[in-house]
Amino acid sequence: MRSLRRWRERRVLRNAALPDALWRDACDALPFLAMYTADERARLRDLVVLFLDAKSIVGAQGHEVTPLQRTVIALQACVPVLNLDLALYDGFENIVVYPGEFVPGVEYEDEFGVVHRRDDALAGEAMHLGPVVLSWPDVEASADWDAAQMNLVIHEFAHKIDMADGDANGCPPLPDAKARNAWHVTMTRAYEHFARRVDGGEDTAIDPYAAEAPAEFFAVLSEVFFAEPTLLHAEYPRVYDAFRDFYRQDPLARS
Ligand SMILES: [Zn+2]
Repeated sequence: MRSLRRWRERRVLRNAALPDALWRDACDALPFLAMYTADERARLRDLVVLFLDAKSIVGAQGHEVTPLQRTVIALQACVPVLNLDLALYDGFENIVVYPGEFVPGVEYEDEFGVVHRRDDALAGEAMHLGPVVLSWPDVEASADWDAAQMNLVIHEFAHKIDMADGDANGCPPLPDAKARNAWHVTMTRAYEHFARRVDGGEDTAIDPYAAEAPAEFFAVLSEVFFAEPTLLHAEYPRVYDAFRDFYRQDPLARS
């Protein structure tokens, strides 16, 4: 299976080129990519080609997805898996892009069997085995981390990585029980500490939304890891180390 996949990937890379001008415009739209080496950018470009071959990025509510928007979304989705495997994004095909925040029409059943309809507007959503849904203005705003303090695409795709082994529980696929245990200890300690700070009314530099649930803690801290690594390292160095080992990237060494 693995070699078949590699063969397919080589064929896609031979046949589907990404125009130079489009690639340059997409990179220019994402200032944090300036930290990446030429080799990393070249590998990112191949990943983007494979990602766009495997996924459909479609507009909703009249939103038309331009080639540049597609590339910008794919590029950021590929950042977390640069040294991992695109297979982490298997099991779903669509990325749906809305012209603004959207109200998910999904009904869900709670632990007591009551079906709810959510009515709060969202900037993004990642459903298990379902699509990733994004509000384009929020993707666009994310390009400037200093102003937005968020990266919506990395956030939602971190959820996808978390869900690759089933649950959205803040624990991505890890090699064995020992690694899962170590992850659990590190993340629980940091999560509980952060939640106490937020509950205490502290104005945290990391988005307080991370205190919502362990899955959100993983997604928000993944954004910080890639876009503002000095902040994560200063606040939660052990989480930084765990992420460095998991993602096999060391953004602090780049910046
Ligand atoms: Zn989230």
